[in-house]
Amino acid sequence: MSTRSLIDLRSDTVTQPTPSMRRAMAEAEVGDDVYGEDPTVLALESRVADLLGKEAALFVPSGTMANQIGIGLHAGPGDELICDARAHVYVWEAGGIARHWGVQARTINPHGGLITVDHLRDKIQPDNEHYVRTRLVCLENTHNRASGRVQPIDSVRAISGWAREHGLAMHLDGARLMNAVVASGVPARDWAAEFDTVSICFSKGLGAPVGSAIAGSADLMRQAHRLRKALGGGMRQAGIIAVGALHALEHHVDRIAEDHAHAQMIAQAIEQAPGLSLESGPVETNLVWIAVDPEVGTAREVADRLRELGVLVSALGPQILRAVTHLDCSRSQAEQAAEAISRVTAGMVRTA
Ligand SMILES: *Cc1c(COP(=O)(O)O)cnc(C)c1O
Repeated sequence: MSTRSLIDLRSDTVTQPTPSMRRAMAEAEVGDDVYGEDPTVLALESRVADLLGKEAALFVPSGTMANQIGIGLHAGPGDELICDARAHVYVWEAGGIARHWGVQARTINPHGGLITVDHLRDKIQPDNEHYVRTRLVCLENTHNRASGRVQPIDSVRAISGWAREHGLAMHLDGARLMNAVVASGVPARDWAAEFDTVSICFSKGLGAPVGSAIAGSADLMRQAHRLRKALGGGMRQAGIIAVGALHALEHHVDRIAEDHAHAQMIAQAIEQAPGLSLESGPVETNLVWIAVDPEVGTAREVADRLRELGVLVSALGPQILRAVTHLDCSRSQAEQAAEAISRVTAGMVRTA
């Protein structure tokens, strides 16, 4: 079976552009964006700045580049950032913070993956020649590896107040910020107000084919242009893809609630499946991390069996699976997937 005929829950990046999004792309007005002449890119950047309550925003090819630029704006060689040990910027960006900027990370292992001020208090290095310079705190919302949990706004406010008191910058990896917005009812600009820079992905839950943005002060975004160029992210007639992001912001935000409801259906199925459990706590948004009890086999074995039942999930560790709901998973597909998951481990228990 080709992946196209399966219910693909490996990631929320697997979505296809909708027919109306494709039409908008075909008709997009474009220009050379490195010259600042692509009206569609400029429209998207101003839309994102407005959404996030920032002076300016910059369109970039990927969420990774948006985060790397955000970090490069605040820190350089001999500097340190503080983040959760399971943060995307630390784990899944190919060591970019060290490669590009010579920055190291001080990682924290909070129970459940969400950092509070108490985790941070003793993490700033003394101002002394022996130490790195602690420059910034990076948070992730929603937090992918913490089962897509929403970092509560009160804890974000407490952290940013503390960071400001200590002269630290704040960067938000908001790849799934709109999932946090829909799940919490807290507007995007209220989250963004607590950060100097915010990244947001259009190719995840929002369902655009390509692109992310970073937002911040006008001054920071001027510097961000140079970093984007240095990373090879200056794009030309990029309005063709930027319009997909504009379309997604217009049409795909409220519907994220459906993805969250579908993820709940998957979560319930996991509770019914012998040998499967929720790996990092309750599901709050569209990401479902699943622990596979070695008694029933490996994650790979369960994933292979699910594939035979028509459902694709990711095996992201020897005993860890991830299922992600998105725009291209309808309610009936979510029901089918939940049904398959609830019976996938039947008869799999290993006997010695
Ligand atoms: C996917 C993701 C990103 C960015 O990934 P790209 O594939 O580079 O767009 C950043 N942060 C988190 C939490 C993500 O899940």
